[in-house]
Amino acid sequence: MLIDGKKTANEIQKELEVKISEIKGRKPGLAFILVGENPASLSYVRAKKRACALVGIVSTVLELPQDVTEIDLLQKIDTFNRSSEIDGILVQLPLPSHINETLITSSINPAKDVDGFHPLNVGKMLLGDDSGFLPCTPHGIKELLLRHQIPVSGKHVVIVGRSNIVGKPLAAILMQKKEGCNATVTVAHSQTENLSKITLSADVLVAAVGKANCITKEMVKPGSTVIDVGINRVEGKLVGDVDFENVSKVAAHITPVPGGVGPMTIAMLLQNTFFSFLKLLTLLLLITSCQKKEISKDSCTHFDGWKMTMPYHVVLGEKLNPDEKAKVSQVIENTFLEVHNIFDNWNETSEISQINKAPKETLIPLSLPLQNIFAICNQIVTLSGGRFDPTIEPLISLWKNSKEPSAEKIKEISEALGWKHITIHNGILKKDSTETRLDLCALSKGLCIDWIIERIQALGHTDILVEWAGEIRAIGHHPENRDWTIQIDPGLKVENQSLAPLPLRNCALATSGNQNGHIIDPLTAMPVESSIASVTVMAPTCVLADALATTAMLFRSRKEAESFAQEVVDLYPDVSFWIISHRDEK
Ligand code: NAP
Repeated sequence: MLIDGKKTANEIQKELEVKISEIKGRKPGLAFILVGENPASLSYVRAKKRACALVGIVSTVLELPQDVTEIDLLQKIDTFNRSSEIDGILVQLPLPSHINETLITSSINPAKDVDGFHPLNVGKMLLGDDSGFLPCTPHGIKELLLRHQIPVSGKHVVIVGRSNIVGKPLAAILMQKKEGCNATVTVAHSQTENLSKITLSADVLVAAVGKANCITKEMVKPGSTVIDVGINRVEGKLVGDVDFENVSKVAAHITPVPGGVGPMTIAMLLQNTFFSFLKLLTLLLLITSCQKKEISKDSCTHFDGWKMTMPYHVVLGEKLNPDEKAKVSQVIENTFLEVHNIFDNWNETSEISQINKAPKETLIPLSLPLQNIFAICNQIVTLSGGRFDPTIEPLISLWKNSKEPSAEKIKEISEALGWKHITIHNGILKKDSTETRLDLCALSKGLCIDWIIERIQALGHTDILVEWAGEIRAIGHHPENRDWTIQIDPGLKVENQSLAPLPLRNCALATSGNQNGHIIDPLTAMPVESSIASVTVMAPTCVLADALATTAMLFRSRKEAESFAQEVVDLYPDVSFWIISHRDEK
């Protein structure tokens, strides 16, 4: 069977395109630095730039002459390191021989190192610490295997090639003690003796050599998987390292060249850039050293993955046996699926989409989860004086699709806005306007985290931490009998006091940020022009933290948001707010 990397990469890019299209303000930015006129480098950068444009990442290419000095190059990187418009920096390799590649890759801000070559990110990869960036080609291979359900756990993976960009990092990734890894890895190279004997024992064989036809049919175990990383030009034709025609007759799965690993490398670059953007956008509550130490401890069990283009981490403060682990995995998967089936506006068949399509006065029976979330909506709408509005969807669509909608159009849409247009009685919903449509994004991430916690709790576990898309909730304790703690970005300070490290005692934390107006105020029907950079809320549940953080972002000034926060805290003493302004506003 052919492993179609192009198709898989397209799927990932589509997912990213949807996410990026939802961002109203500044889009993710990626800077390429190209030194000299190496034709292969030129064509790689062009392909990556094209892919950026397709998903909505703003890319810029800085072309420097072959004889650029090291100092000049370092200065250019420094400019991008400091730019608030740039989330990712990629220096296209190879560099001319007078430039020290290690020095250059080390000078990129590790938080923008979307190629994953900075020593800090390489170290994190080796430690199994997910807060860094994985290099794109090995990451793409791992993703390709995962998405094609080719197991590597317990299998023999043989990698031919030990370069710093493919062979070594791929070995480090696949041998991790993690879901989707746990492989027994052998790395071969030009000095390896009896290469065929080793490759013949591979369940998964990866060729990253750079020599056409160096992997022949005789070197491949029947029924195995063959991943061809090589890119070679033979008589003007692009081929890999594998004798594709003959090897495909013995292998069960094989990647083509072109159309295999190459497109996945680009997809992972885009994903890393989007991930970097998210972190900077929401001043993401990064689980860094402190919590990662906890995650990597043997006494915990952890589950990592990506859902709806955002990474998630679930940590249990105990060592689970394989059976318990499978049950927890199932709960996580089912919960994400349920959220997709109930709340996802992009899912045409979701419960929310059905309500949005229904004509006015239709009687719509609600599922129990949706009834519960509408009860929470009622609470927040009242608390926020209508600022938090689940019927905001038509307004969001209007501003998304038109830069400057007319006053008439805004007025027309505003007539269908407001929670008053929805009535719910005995679990049956009715809208009084066909145009009224719901968007529960401000609650659904938090709700998903709460559900995961509650459902794992129902399996009998007591110490759980769940993090997804920058929101986090913890219950119970760390196995060392202390609080779960998270390390917030050490640069993030409130009134010169660092917030880190923060203990999480049976509570949740959510952050909302507004970059150049992607939040719309339902009271004015206009994008919010606010001096507030971000709001972080600690609350007993993640859905409450999520909703309150979004609501506080709707105020124009820190003073107004603080007064709202005070009202909330008077009612709910176990809620805390951190409001951060762009300017030095008191
Ligand atoms: P590299 O740095 O040149 O490394 C090649 C590796 O192959 C070295 O470890 C070398 O061993 C080993 N090797 C050479 N001849 C061998 C032989 N006869 N038997 C066993 N091992 C042998 O190359 P790279 O950067 O890893 O790239 C490898 C290939 O992948 C190239 O064709 C490159 O264009 C392609 N590539 C593709 C992508 C993509 O996105 N599709 C990304 C990166 C690279 P020694 O260490 O002993 O020299």
